[in-house]
Amino acid sequence: MTFFVRVAIDQPPAVAAAIGSEDGLYDYRADIRIDPGRFVLVPFGARRVVGVVVERGDDAGLSVAADRIKDVVAVVEGLAPLGREWIALNRFAARYYHRPLGEVMLPSLPPALRTAARFELSPPDAAARRTATLPAIGRAIKRAAKSKGPPERVPSAAVALNTMQASALATIQASLQGAAPRPILLYGITGSGKTEVYLRAIAETIAAGLQALVLVPEINLTPQLAETFRLKLPEAVIGSLHSGHADGERLRQWVLAHEGAVDVLLGTRLAVLASLPRLGLIVVDEEHDTSYKQHEGLRYSARDLAIARARLGRDGIAFPVVLASATPSMETWAHVETGRYEKVVLSRRASADARLPTIRLVPTQRVETQHGLTPVLRDAIVDRIARGEPVLVFHNRRGYAPVLACGACRWLSACPRCSVNAVFHKADRHLHCHHCGWQRPVPRVCPTCGNADLAAIGHGTQRVEESLRSLFPTARIARIDRDSTRRKGAATGLLEAVHAGDLDILVGTQMLAKGHDFRNVTLVCVLDADSALFSHDFRAGERLFSNLMQVAGRAGRGGARSEGAEVLIQTRAPEHPLFESLVAHDFDRFAANQLGERRAAGLPPCSFHAVMRAEAATSVEAIDFLRRARNEGVTILETSGTAAEIELYDPVPMTIARVANVERAQLLVEAKQRPALHRFLDDWLQALRSRRSRIRWHLEVDPLGI
Ligand code: ADP
Ligand code: ZN
Ligand code: ZN
Repeated sequence: MTFFVRVAIDQPPAVAAAIGSEDGLYDYRADIRIDPGRFVLVPFGARRVVGVVVERGDDAGLSVAADRIKDVVAVVEGLAPLGREWIALNRFAARYYHRPLGEVMLPSLPPALRTAARFELSPPDAAARRTATLPAIGRAIKRAAKSKGPPERVPSAAVALNTMQASALATIQASLQGAAPRPILLYGITGSGKTEVYLRAIAETIAAGLQALVLVPEINLTPQLAETFRLKLPEAVIGSLHSGHADGERLRQWVLAHEGAVDVLLGTRLAVLASLPRLGLIVVDEEHDTSYKQHEGLRYSARDLAIARARLGRDGIAFPVVLASATPSMETWAHVETGRYEKVVLSRRASADARLPTIRLVPTQRVETQHGLTPVLRDAIVDRIARGEPVLVFHNRRGYAPVLACGACRWLSACPRCSVNAVFHKADRHLHCHHCGWQRPVPRVCPTCGNADLAAIGHGTQRVEESLRSLFPTARIARIDRDSTRRKGAATGLLEAVHAGDLDILVGTQMLAKGHDFRNVTLVCVLDADSALFSHDFRAGERLFSNLMQVAGRAGRGGARSEGAEVLIQTRAPEHPLFESLVAHDFDRFAANQLGERRAAGLPPCSFHAVMRAEAATSVEAIDFLRRARNEGVTILETSGTAAEIELYDPVPMTIARVANVERAQLLVEAKQRPALHRFLDDWLQALRSRRSRIRWHLEVDPLGI
């Protein structure tokens, strides 16, 4: 018998288009029936590659002539086939982000599973059939079988839910049992006990024999949360999936989830594409966080895919997805307003002794600052240290100074490869480009005029740390940012030190704000909130508000001194309307204002964006490519009579036009309705991909920064 299968293979759109496979599926012949979801090794050009069988084919609809079609080399044994739902999720992602299916499906798998060379081929058996195995899979499965049940754990005492938590849980429970659940926004201020609520829903999911997926924004958060899960769900097997795992561990974790051995999978954005055959609940913690957005390859939003995944459901029946946040994204908020999402609210801090901190603005106009600190901040810090209460100082810019400058000739430490300044790092006395990784020892004299007096302009976390040391010489001070935490476990160590009372001041970037439950912090200082206030990115205000809320949320989480917890924000614009809502802890009002502005300006979520970007050696080439693409788009719109549905803006250089010697430009596509956007993108991309071009380009749907 001869059978045909359609196999997803990882090839870029241009290759897929050139071969005439728009969807990234390729036909192969086999002498046995191979079910969808099976991994296979197939020849592709001169190579042998790993693919996934997506559907059975027949000789009527082949994309290649039957006499030229190639044979499947081997079927991978020892691994359950990928589920129907998983394939459906990938099909959705491919359609939504306009990429070939193979280019979506394969990259989401652990690298070890994608490397054909790692598989061992068996000789053909009696049926002239070859199989392939990956020894690492066998080992992972065996280890899972041996470790029957989770290790013994001492469960932590269960807290009694307060009435708000109980009613939130009841809503989630109802939708765990309902037939067509809407996504649920678990909207609760910092410290209101959101984790406690979704943990109960997870426990229920596990008790029903199903798996739960929990997405978190940061790798650094997974150990802490995994520990909480272990204590609260002592019976459960908890897996984790993120890019910090080495290849072997990533494969093992993936296989365990895929084989159903894991009850709860905790992971960063890539975990949304994990194979979970019995998935019954997804939680997206801090759903507004921008790290859910992937910025290369399939530029997906893990939150949006989580919602799609829950809707696709299990056995055709949708399951709930819980989006947790104190400051939801405007996208989510808009869906709540239209009733597409359900909202449950936790409006009080859960611990009896926790209080919301008082937020105060500290004007910096006409005030003498010392090392960037106003007297108000200095006094407040002295005060808290004297009482033995650790202080957090938030500054969202790493390095020592954003730029070195020569006062004599106006030389600036620009990165030679990018259109940005290279940042001065004092620790290694190097200039670092935070965009392309370029670095160079700090010049002793000005490279253009020889002046020996180069000035460090502005403040980064390293400089703030240095200032604090000179202002508070006896205080125990540490810094947490990407530079100080390259070593594994370093971040956790610093946060532990705050918990243990071993630090007086911790200065850092957003890293110090993400989800940590400090019991003893009563003062949080924000040195400079202003750069985001005057940004031309229409999402800057939304991001600033949620960052500040999250930072503020670290204070007053419990302990005797919660009562007087304070957040001090230095600003040159204390009258800015954003602060009015912030000081009142009033996200609802902030969101109403934001959405009002977005609606008036026709911006997302009240319209829909896609952006096409081009990269070339010169700006002219990049712009020129986009201009031609735009003309082509206009023609498509005119011939189909849909010009009123889509706005194609003029191509412009990107805000940071040059990175690593590549000039980048972009073209914004805007639509009032999402279906119209997708229809147009389908036609437009098909036209563009059928043409050869030396210019690198890509399309991003729902871009965050434009
Ligand atoms: P969130 O995720 O909303 O920021 P958490 O779930 O981390 O809040 O809870 C904040 C703190 O309150 C934690 O220390 C948690 O153990 C505690 N907590 C949560 N629910 C209760 C409750 N019902 N009673 C007492 N403490 C609670
Ligand atoms: Zn100079
Ligand atoms: Zn650079």
